[in-house]
Amino acid sequence: MTAPATLTVDLNALARNFHALAAISGAPVHPVVKADGYGLGAVACAMRLMTEGARTLFVARATEGLALRAALGAEPVIYVLDGCHGETASALKAANLRPVLNHPVQKQAWDAIGGGACGIQIDTGMNRLGYRIEDAPEPFAGLELVMSHLACSDDPAEPMNRRQRDAFAAVAGRYPGATRSFANSGGCFLGQDFGFDAVRPGICLYGGGPEGRPNARIAPVATLTAEVLQVRNVPAGESVGYSRGFVADTPRRIATCAAGYADGVLRSYSPRGEVWAHGALRPIVGRVSMDVIAIDIADAEIRVGDRVELFGARRLLDDAARAAGTISYELLTSITARVPRVYVG
Ligand SMILES: *Cc1c(COP(=O)(O)O)cnc(C)c1O
Repeated sequence: MTAPATLTVDLNALARNFHALAAISGAPVHPVVKADGYGLGAVACAMRLMTEGARTLFVARATEGLALRAALGAEPVIYVLDGCHGETASALKAANLRPVLNHPVQKQAWDAIGGGACGIQIDTGMNRLGYRIEDAPEPFAGLELVMSHLACSDDPAEPMNRRQRDAFAAVAGRYPGATRSFANSGGCFLGQDFGFDAVRPGICLYGGGPEGRPNARIAPVATLTAEVLQVRNVPAGESVGYSRGFVADTPRRIATCAAGYADGVLRSYSPRGEVWAHGALRPIVGRVSMDVIAIDIADAEIRVGDRVELFGARRLLDDAARAAGTISYELLTSITARVPRVYVG
């Protein structure tokens, strides 16, 4: 039985994106699998990426790292972007996880439990996490990775990209022997001089374009489908859904589909959202409710039990995100635990 709302994950497409990103950036890919692999399932994605050759993974939280270590075993190197403080330092060390140290207090916490393999993040202008360049630490034992993060990589014309890249190249030179990692997904497309020793893509592995729109070199990976629960005729003048969010000016045929905000279909999908159904994009009408959406199916022969696609190969993720007033990252990470992840490939 296929669940009413299902997220299908094409692991072959994930693998293709992994290899494409290595070719485009000219550097080994160290996948970012934080936030449960951008909602697709970190364990399943990481296992496939390791089969494809990935040896180093990035997560954001210590808890994500601990869960992955338990599921994946001893092999992959796992960096925790949050770094560590008092309690997490010993938990990370016990699980052979590597913190990315962002400031002196984190380094003190790591040193206090004896240190060991870790990374540092240098802030080259984003002002989010990491040491300011003038405060960057001296090289120290255990330092395996030096990294920084681009603020505007989704906009290749933004001059800040190259400023950050050049600043990173200069500061990373102080740490001979450490792996230098700079580029996220967008950075992979900015030129091979952004690749350094390893790239850290997330969204492009999972099928989002590097610039917030579909990119021909990135394959769709995730498909969100919903089952049609009911098809009805709505006479002119009647309304659909909560608060009369849609009023039919002419007679309409409406399919009620099993996906709502409790599945991660953001309320902002209305009023501009569309789904792919029976060979065409069709508008979501009225409000997104907790469990269902309503689709105007015109005269299409859509029946109860058919499935509609909210995003996937025919309704591309970035287009769905734009219609919902958000970005691919948020669409994927909003899919809730109620939606089973089904792996193919
Ligand atoms: C999330 C994250 C990435 C991955 O970014 P994408 O834009 O998804 O490729 C890389 N590096 C850091 C520090 C991050 O926080």
